[in-house]
Amino acid sequence: MIKINEHYLKLQASYLFSTIASRVADYQKKNPDREIIRLGIGDCTRALPIACIAAFHKAVDEMAADASFRGYGPEQGYAFLREAISKNDFQARGADVSADEIFISDGAKCDTGNFQEILSTDIRIAIPDPVYPVYIDTNVMSGRTGIFQDGRYQNIIYLESTRKNNYIPDLPAEPVDLIYLCYPNNPTGATITKEALARWVDFARKNKALILFDAAYEAFIRNDAIPHSIYEIEGAREVAVEFRSFSKTAGFTGTRCAFTVVPKNCLAYDESGHAHALHGLWNRRHTTKFNGVSYPVQRAAEAIYSEEGKAQVKEIIDLMSHVGGEHSPYIWINANRDSWTFFDMLLESAGVVCTPGAGFGACGQQYIRLSAFNSYENTDKAMIRLREALGK
Ligand code: PLP
Repeated sequence: MIKINEHYLKLQASYLFSTIASRVADYQKKNPDREIIRLGIGDCTRALPIACIAAFHKAVDEMAADASFRGYGPEQGYAFLREAISKNDFQARGADVSADEIFISDGAKCDTGNFQEILSTDIRIAIPDPVYPVYIDTNVMSGRTGIFQDGRYQNIIYLESTRKNNYIPDLPAEPVDLIYLCYPNNPTGATITKEALARWVDFARKNKALILFDAAYEAFIRNDAIPHSIYEIEGAREVAVEFRSFSKTAGFTGTRCAFTVVPKNCLAYDESGHAHALHGLWNRRHTTKFNGVSYPVQRAAEAIYSEEGKAQVKEIIDLMSHVGGEHSPYIWINANRDSWTFFDMLLESAGVVCTPGAGFGACGQQYIRLSAFNSYENTDKAMIRLREALGK
């Protein structure tokens, strides 16, 4: 008899975006003439930067001639892209990351979800609340949690991020082995200072723990004092893996390209306490289960680092930062009432779609998330409607 992985039965159905879609569809049916403005989604709406498109086209043309055709590439990514990333994203900011510590992939969602697979199931994990749900669900799937009870999974140490702590959770009171951090944060939009991040790195070093640092929104940082990478913190290489994505940086949500940094001296331990380099384990996993990102997509991603590419990306992000949070495309708003009630009110009275915070965790029950992934004009219009709806 074929048996299922029963841990999947513990998963809470993710009703968030399907419930949003059906409530919006109902509203549109009743109000066919009302123009709805969607500030709920975290998806890009603007075209790829011209520099990326030019590189993309050129690479496709190379595939059309036998002499320049490319078949399977290196699973870890082409050297041209890994070197551009290492130089521009890390060495330029004084972070010591070499090209061969970078693994190119088709998304930070897959990487943040898959990385836990090379770690023991018998570990204590700390996950922020509210949070990007992939970190929790993938740990549920692999059996690291108990059942879902009273709004939370058992055996997870929830790191509460609230207004009281400025959305930077306190260090856990007990030792933990695996810590998820995401800055700039989805959904709260909060950023972390070097000093606060250094406290997490020290904690991980003391506890021989690992930090999985998701920096998918790094490009939105506007203040140079805020760290773009955890490797700007001394000692982080030994205890941290970092995830990045071109999705929100350069509109690659549909094109798909991202990367994960696993420093060669980042360690984890076996049952007898013997240290192993995670780089080798992740390399083994990546090369066994993944066959690389397509050549034209990697060329398009490389173009982000050209002078024109950098300028075009900056222009897109500046516009989003203008309408979004200060260092992130998201605004996390205290609705002071149930987030679904506020969602309905906003839709009914303003025709604006937000994301109810309850979908990101217990700490989001009274919050909503607005995103800047819409045109400037629409976002501006939405703000006028919001002011009217809220009587401000
Ligand atoms: N990490 C965070 C925090 C995100 O919000 C998202 C997407 O919304 C991702 C990762 C996924 O990125 P990608 O498109 O590269 O899979």
